Amino acid sequence: MKDDIANMIAPQLIRPIPRWPFFAFLGGAMFCLLASSTCHLLSCHSRRLAYIMLRLDYAGIAALIATSFYPPVYYSFMCYPFFCNLYLSFITILGVATIAFSLLPVFQNPEFRTIRACLFFGMGASGVIPVIHKLILFWHQPEALHTTGYEVLMGLFYGIGALVYATRVPERWMPGKFDIAGHSHQLFHVLVVAGAYTHYHAGLLYLKWRDLQGC
Ligand SMILES: [Zn+2]
Repeated sequence: MKDDIANMIAPQLIRPIPRWPFFAFLGGAMFCLLASSTCHLLSCHSRRLAYIMLRLDYAGIAALIATSFYPPVYYSFMCYPFFCNLYLSFITILGVATIAFSLLPVFQNPEFRTIRACLFFGMGASGVIPVIHKLILFWHQPEALHTTGYEVLMGLFYGIGALVYATRVPERWMPGKFDIAGHSHQLFHVLVVAGAYTHYHAGLLYLKWRDLQGC
């Protein structure tokens, strides 16, 4: 709550900084949750609709992960336009590729399952580079360490989510026992929501940091 108020007041006190990267993340998170809900609501309709909807589910998660990069990258490197543009272009291209991979029917065959999981995992893991770069540039500022703490936690949630998805834990250990509740796809969604919520708090910290200190 304190962060929310600081974010409302800070721009009035000093010069406001752009909000679009934070809103891009919120948009990505909302699209992801909407796509997931629609998928799981409608996929029981028919085999054909389930086939289309499941792809939308993964596209939503890819959009969430890609837009999750926007606030940390933009606010960490807003005074270093070269790196800011480099990281933002990289994650945008990787995100579009992963969304295409999730949506195109060609890639839905089982042999692409590992590649799809690797794309998701790679997108998450590539976040390590801008975070380490940020720590090198701003190691003496407490905000850099504080936001990194949130990012590590978020990375853990997303990483475990990808691992659960790829390995199909726990139903592989006890087939049939998790058909209704507790199977890998559900755990995957819970972990994605936990990651997005952690990231929202990191985003508020970034806004406060830049609103109060500028570059
Ligand atoms: Zn799902």
